Amino acid sequence: MKQVLYLYGIVWALIVPLFALPLPTQARERFKIVIDAGHGGKDQGAAGRKIQEKEVTLKIAKRAEKYIRRRTRGVDVILTRERDEFISLNERANFANFCEADLFISIHANSARGYAEGTETFVWSKRHNPWSLKLARLIQKEYTERAKRKNRGVKKANFAVLRNTNMPAVLTEVGFISNAKEEKYMKSRRGRRKLAYCIYQAVKQYLNSLDE
Ligand SMILES: [Zn+2]
Repeated sequence: MKQVLYLYGIVWALIVPLFALPLPTQARERFKIVIDAGHGGKDQGAAGRKIQEKEVTLKIAKRAEKYIRRRTRGVDVILTRERDEFISLNERANFANFCEADLFISIHANSARGYAEGTETFVWSKRHNPWSLKLARLIQKEYTERAKRKNRGVKKANFAVLRNTNMPAVLTEVGFISNAKEEKYMKSRRGRRKLAYCIYQAVKQYLNSLDE
């Protein structure tokens, strides 16, 4: 990731002075989504009996990226990580800001000591963008209706990736890895694809609502 940022830096340092012109309209109008697979590398996130959060988040992020890229037009999807590597929370947010993303989606799996079940999606507690709330509600609706997951609702939290991103941003918890039944669902390709599809569907409806 640092290398990517560094390369972007070099490319822009070379290009901007040469062509100090606005980008063509078409290029500027492409909608950019940064999808952030939570945790990675030395930070495994929550651990289930058989799988770790960092694996689940990466697989769902990649699948959601694929669905969005293949099924929507004029949208670029960029992942904060594509493999098992550690990236700090600030780097994730800075990357999205640097990309001038129009939307930021961070994917996580939940964990609890006692019994807990269901999905929930967070927006920033202090000053969330109304569009963040819009996307969070769409994602929860999809999980509930399409994937038949228990709905814990849209919540507010002061998470760094929500606080430090300059665009509408959500952090979605796809289920409890500490819950054997939900871990099994996340471990299955079918389950992960369903969750990724829900995120894609929510994004699609979000994009449609921008056109209205
Ligand atoms: Zn997490």
